[in-house]
Formats: sequence, structure tokens, C-alpha cells
Amino acid sequence: MLSNNKPNRKPLIYYALIAMMTLFLLNALVFPSMLARQVQEVGYSEFLKMVDAGAVKTVSLDQEAGQMVFIATDSSTNRDVVCKTALFPDDSLRQRLEDAGVEFSAEIPTQNSPLLNFIISWIVPILMFSAMGMAMNKILTKRGMGGMNAMSFGKANAKIYAEKETGVTFNDVAGEEEAKEALQEIVSFLETPEKYAKIGAKLPKGALLVGPPGTGKTLLAKAVAGEAKVPFFSISGSEFVEMFVGMGAAKVRDLFKQANEKAPCIVFIDEIDTIGKKRDTGSGLGGNDEREQTLNQLLTEMDGFDGKKGVVILAATNRPESLDPALLRPGRFDRRIPVELPDLRGREAILRVHARGIKMEGNVDMNAIARATSGASGAELANIINEAALRAVRMGRDTVTQDDLMESVETVIAGYQRKNAVLSEHEKQIVSYHEIGHALVAAKQSNSAPVTKITIIPRTSGALGYTMQVDEGEMVLMSKEYLLSRLATLTGGQAAEQLVFGSITTGASNDIEKATKLARGMITRYGMSENFGMVALETVNGQYLGQDTSLACSPAYAEKIDDQVVALVASARAKADQILRDNEAKLHELAKYLLEKETITGEEFMAILNRE
Ligand code: ADP
Ligand code: MG
Ligand code: ZN
Repeated sequence: MLSNNKPNRKPLIYYALIAMMTLFLLNALVFPSMLARQVQEVGYSEFLKMVDAGAVKTVSLDQEAGQMVFIATDSSTNRDVVCKTALFPDDSLRQRLEDAGVEFSAEIPTQNSPLLNFIISWIVPILMFSAMGMAMNKILTKRGMGGMNAMSFGKANAKIYAEKETGVTFNDVAGEEEAKEALQEIVSFLETPEKYAKIGAKLPKGALLVGPPGTGKTLLAKAVAGEAKVPFFSISGSEFVEMFVGMGAAKVRDLFKQANEKAPCIVFIDEIDTIGKKRDTGSGLGGNDEREQTLNQLLTEMDGFDGKKGVVILAATNRPESLDPALLRPGRFDRRIPVELPDLRGREAILRVHARGIKMEGNVDMNAIARATSGASGAELANIINEAALRAVRMGRDTVTQDDLMESVETVIAGYQRKNAVLSEHEKQIVSYHEIGHALVAAKQSNSAPVTKITIIPRTSGALGYTMQVDEGEMVLMSKEYLLSRLATLTGGQAAEQLVFGSITTGASNDIEKATKLARGMITRYGMSENFGMVALETVNGQYLGQDTSLACSPAYAEKIDDQVVALVASARAKADQILRDNEAKLHELAKYLLEKETITGEEFMAILNRE
């Protein structure tokens, strides 16, 4: 079938028509009364009196209209007024006018040519109205209210969705091999829909990309369109939520209408959770009417369109658990494509993709960067490469070095260095002991990741120093022993402060937070406590958004959990205390060295630790 590519724009004639109608009404109703007020009608005898009194200046005779228009001076205001009077068969008039010295002629002096009249009263206003209409339309479109005007309320404008060529391909998306494989089928369907139609195979109408923020969901959707070389219609869920009730639904309708005209194509709905949330059963005030209308319209459209035509709907969300089940039903978004945080290999690949356009020194080790960025998303990795390039420029170099990359990893993780932060000598000493405390406890346990860097240069994130530990490979499963040693390492900072200075500071607040969370997880979710065994006492809420959990047990159990968390952290702290007491000489030696150098590498640290 031939697709209809007519642009959905309102032609000039549309505005002209509105203008004509307005003018017609004005002419019929408003102008006559306005004119009537300007020209005073005067009786004939009154007119004669005015002539005799010398008040009349000029008289124009209009035989056709059967009237005389004259200009007279108003005696009370002393201003000229235009008057008219009906023609009266009067032979003495001419003589009378001459006697009074009045100028007279047989035509109306102020009358324009009919053509000029026509232009002034019709063409000029039409053009003005058209211009105004177009300007209004533009402003409204810019505001995202979609070309709304008196006659097309509830119709959204075409231009905001379509993007002809995204220019992104699967080559630009690194890692995420599973997601790419799942999307490959959609690409081939868009390229040759006939092949599928011949067999009678139906492809799913929609696929849902789910995963944490910054993992490349939007990028993947664009890449599908780019690979298949089809138009990309994209709209974000939040754009549907409109000021006016009904506009969201109208936008959905319009979006699908356009997509149908441009098929094959991709329709991408970003942040679908904003409209696709579970419809609640009576929230009282009915404040969600708009969202629900929009969602209903979306469901209707998805059911309504012909799947064989080649319109594929992709949607992205990082809160799949909150979506309305109706959206996930077969025939709608029944395909779910996970887009997870990249693993070690994925991270290295993403770093390489973003390093493509950047001048790098020959010996940069992307693997080392990838290992140091466990848990980072694609967006963060892209940011790390860019920060490194910026740093190289700041340093006046024209290539990026390994140092730039490592520094930028820390920048992205911990914020910029605060070179001019003012710390007293004593405070610096405390920070130094604190960090060495962490490192020493880590190094003296067999199950923890090796220390790679220790620094006491403050960061903009608020950290006064930190100890970096990088695992050798990718951690997929973490053993109980590993977690226990991690817990002890977290308590090592404050343990060192206590041991050396006999008092503690506020510096351990972040460690405490992490330790508590870890200990809680071990007890409530990983079944790592003797007392509870394999019972889930907490459930994770937002799978992809910062591990938010809620209790799933009785208050009596909640109390027991708290007790256990305290006990677990206390035992970890006891272990750290023991390690530090056993290695007190090394603690002093290392802290002094760190205080002097401010930043030391893992090798330097190990060399001093292993020195006799
Ligand atoms: P999401 O939509 O999942 O939140 P985006 O697709 O908007 O994430 O990703 C943001 C940016 O991060 C992308 O423009 C890209 O530069 C980078 N990025 C994320 N994931 C990847 C990846 N897998 N490969 C390459 N770049 C990526
Ligand atoms: Mg996105
Ligand atoms: Zn600490």
C-alpha cells in the first residue's frame, strides 16, 4: 500500500477563512454603528439654518445615495464635524450656498477608489489575521500545547515527534548483547515486513526495555530505528501529562495516526511508568483522571492498529513493577527486554566505544578502568571518558593518559578534588589513621579485595579521604566470608581513630551507613544469620532504583532483626579492633607515610606492610 506522506500542517487558506468570517461579522454588525456615530444625521431645515449661520464649510453632493455630506463647525465645541442630510428638491440651494461662501462639489471628497477600499477593508485585515494566527500557532506549539487553536482543540502537532534518521546503530551500543539480540528480530521485521506477512507470523506489537537509569535504553531504541533505517517517533511519558484534561489522550491518538502514515517506523515511549502506573481503585479526588485517560487511549491504540503494517512500539522504564498489568498483557508490551548494568567486559566495551573519538596515549589500560568501575552504568562510563579528556585539556596535553582516566573515575565516584579545603594538621592526621585503618583491616583478611589506592585529598562529595579496593575479576556472587570481611573493613576506620586517639569523630558516618545496610541485607535478605535461616524478612521495592526495601515481617521480628544487625556490626568491629591492635606498629608507620604523601598506591601500601 502506498503510504500517505502529506505533512499535517494547516494551510494558509485555513487562516484566511477564519479572517473572512470574522470580517464578515464585523462588517455586518459592528462597523455600521461605528460609522453612524461618526457622521451626524441632520435635518434639511437644520442644515439650511447652519448654512445661513455660516457654520458650514464644504458640501458634497452624492446624487446616487440621495444625500449631501457636509462639514460644519460645531458652535459649542468649535470643532469640525461631518454631517449628512437627505437631498431635498430645492432650487434656491445653490444660490444660498454661494451667498454663504460655502465650497460645494458633486462628489464626496474623502471617498477612496473602490479598489483601495476593498484592499483596506478586506485584504489587509485578512493578511493581518493570518499572520497573527500563524504566530499564535507557533507560540503554542513551542510551549508544547500542540498547535491548539479555536478550531482544532485537542489535536497535537506533528513536528514534535518525528526524527527521520537517528544516526545511531548497534555499533554505538556496547555490552548489552542479550538486549541487542532480542531487538535484532524487530530490526529485521522492520526491514522486510513482507517476509513475516508471507508466513503469517505476527511480531509482538511492543517491547519493553527495563533496567536501571543510564544503561542505554533510549540509546538502544534509537539504534533499532537506525539499524532498520526507519523513522523514529519518540515521546516521553511525562510529556503526555498535560495541563488540560484530554490533551494526553489526544496526543496518543495523534502520535499513532502519524506513525501509521509513516509505517514502517518505531514509536518510542520513554519513561512509560509516568502514564502506565497501575490504575488505582478510587483515589478519592480523582486527580489521576488525565493519566488514566491517556493510558486507556494508549491501550486502545495498541489494540487498534494493524500489527502487520510495521509499526513497532518500544517503551522504556526503570520501574517495571509499577506498570499497569493491562500494559503487559499479550498483544501489548508482552516482550520484556532487560537492559542491565554492564559487567566487566561490557564496561570495557562501553569505555572503548566512547574512547573512539578521543585521542588516547598508546598504553592506556581500559581493563583496569573497567575493573575500577564496578557497578557503573553506561552513562557514567561515558562521563568518565569525557571527564578524562577535559582533564587532559586542563593539563595542557593533547592526548589522554591513564592518569587522566583514573583521576576521572574518582571524580565521577567521589567528586572533584577540593584542593583548597582547609583541614588542620590534626584533622589530617585523623583522616590518615582512619583510611589506613580501613586498608589495614582489608589487607589482613584473606577474603577482601586488594587495596589499590589510598588518598586523603578531600573531595567535593564531602569525603575527606578514601581507600579504593578493586576486585580482581567480576563479582557475581559474594560469599558470606567476603561480606563479613567487608563489614570489618568498613568499621576499620573508626576502630583506628579509637585506638590511636582514644576518641572518635563524625568522619565515619558514611561507613556506618554502608555497614548497617550491608548487615541488614545479610540478615533479612541473604539468609546469612543463624537465627532466621532462609526466610525473607524484607522485600526489595524498586529493583532498579537504589535498592529500596520494606519490612515483610511482624513487629516482634523487626525488633529481633535490629538486635541482630547491631550484634553483627559489633562483632565485625571487634574483629577490626583485634587486627589493628595486632598491627599497631604498621598502623603508625603507614599513617605517617600517607600523611606525608597524601596519596599512595596499593603497591606502596603493600610494600610497607610487608617490610620487616
Ligand atoms: P537510559 O535511557 O537507559 O537511562 P540512555 O540511553 O539515555 O540511558 O544513556 C545515556 C548515555 O549513556 C547514552 O547516550 C550513551 O552515551 C551512554 N551509554 C549508556 N549505555 C551505553 C552502552 N551500552 N553503550 C554505549 N553507550 C552507552
Ligand atoms: Mg532514557
Ligand atoms: Zn571511613
